[in-house]
Amino acid sequence: MLGQRHLEHFIGGGWVASGGGQRLPVINPATEQSMATVPDGTDQDVDSAVAAARAAFPAWAATPPQERAGHLRRLTLGLQARTEQIARTITAEMGAPLAFSLRVQVGLPVTVMSSYADLAASFRSEEKIDNSLVILDPIGVVAAITPWNFPLHQVVLKVAAALAAGCTVIVKPSELAPLSTDLLAELAHDSGLPAGVLNIVHGTGPRVGDALVRHPGIDMVSFTGSTRAGREVARRAGETLKKVTLELGGKSAMVILPDADSDLFDTAVRHGVRKCFMNSGQSCNALTRLLIPAERAGRAIQLAAAEAGRFTVGDPFAEGVRIGPMVSAEHRDRVRGYIHQGIAQGAHLALGGPDPPVGLDRGFYLRPTVFGEVNPTMVIAQEEIFGPVLAVMSYHSEDQAAEIANGTSYGLTGAVWSADPNHAATFARRLRTGQVDLNGGRFNPLAPFGGFGHSGIGREYGSYGLREFCAPKSLQS
Ligand code: NAD
Repeated sequence: MLGQRHLEHFIGGGWVASGGGQRLPVINPATEQSMATVPDGTDQDVDSAVAAARAAFPAWAATPPQERAGHLRRLTLGLQARTEQIARTITAEMGAPLAFSLRVQVGLPVTVMSSYADLAASFRSEEKIDNSLVILDPIGVVAAITPWNFPLHQVVLKVAAALAAGCTVIVKPSELAPLSTDLLAELAHDSGLPAGVLNIVHGTGPRVGDALVRHPGIDMVSFTGSTRAGREVARRAGETLKKVTLELGGKSAMVILPDADSDLFDTAVRHGVRKCFMNSGQSCNALTRLLIPAERAGRAIQLAAAEAGRFTVGDPFAEGVRIGPMVSAEHRDRVRGYIHQGIAQGAHLALGGPDPPVGLDRGFYLRPTVFGEVNPTMVIAQEEIFGPVLAVMSYHSEDQAAEIANGTSYGLTGAVWSADPNHAATFARRLRTGQVDLNGGRFNPLAPFGGFGHSGIGREYGSYGLREFCAPKSLQS
């Protein structure tokens, strides 16, 4: 894991202790023990980081794109070389099963960093429109505020795109899972990224996050987290009129259309369950609502419960475990509260429940839980639970399926299954979400990702993500 020497802020190319001298514990959710501490940052720490990032901006913005791409390639190789160490750190700090950490928690940032190395070199930052030359300038100094559920990936997604665009960055990682971000700082330092281009300030959201959002030296805030905090960030950033992008919560639906034959139907249900419980159910794009033609609901509930029952809960370092602990006691209690509400509102509990799994008294564990007969007005059908809880819901017509799928305040992702791929695509066009997977279509790290409604503003990944960090400037001749 990490050496304590690195668990400080990373500002201006070096490790700096917090001016305030206080530290925050990082709790391993499987053992409930403190495994490290990070600085509890202050407004003064934020001032130092902003000064460093501002000082570095002109030279980085003027660095040729090929050279910026070279830095991103070195970071990619560094991440790849330390996959095992980073994955173990992430599993310890937030509880994702180790196999998932290796494949996704580290695999995805490697892919994303590499994609932005390619894009930095090939991105068209100038375009002629009639008598204008439109230039995409880097927007400036970016504050990147990130959550704990994909702790390194969310950081890399912002840092790689911003650096490719020519911006300098200050990261405020989640205080619940801040350790993997320190490894990125180490790689930046060792690979020769110029001082001040990437800075990291640890601390809490209301203090360090808010100080960044309000700071007049920050040009843009790229935020990923809860809709609650995102709303606060947008409001506070408005005071200094800076650009804000928000990647927020979701309540995504998977719709199996009536034409699916029994094989496709069974495949789809199993796929949906896996997409709901991935990362122990703590994914913004989790498919948490399974929409089924009413006459097939019984089969769907039975299959979903059987598939969910195969998700072994336990020590995230143990072989074969597919659901680790929830990230914190507070979060475990929040998820448990939703399970209680589902039962109280009359949903049918087909699997799981609010009690911890037998024999797992230490650690913030919950059982995979499947509800059937979920009505669209129930709390568990409307609010993001962010745990291993699936709601199976019935519909009587495709119009009603679309209405239910679109009937929450969110709009992040979705999925459609049909015997006819064209039919699936036609139905997908009716969904008010940023992405829809058709018949299990695989994730594309170059396609834009982001939300409608309360799921956010702006897009990440690929060239759409890069463009968010640019300000267009038109020269007329
Ligand atoms: P959170 O909102 O509690 O915290 C996210 C980050 O914001 C943390 O770094 C936190 O310290 C900071 N923060 C909190 N309050 C703040 C404030 N007032 N000002 C500035 N910063 C503040 O979210 P979380 O619990 O860490 O993450 C889970 C949430 O993130 C879920 O809702 C999930 O859907 C969402 N998420 C969305 C995406 C996406 O791409 N749409 C991806 C991952 C997670």
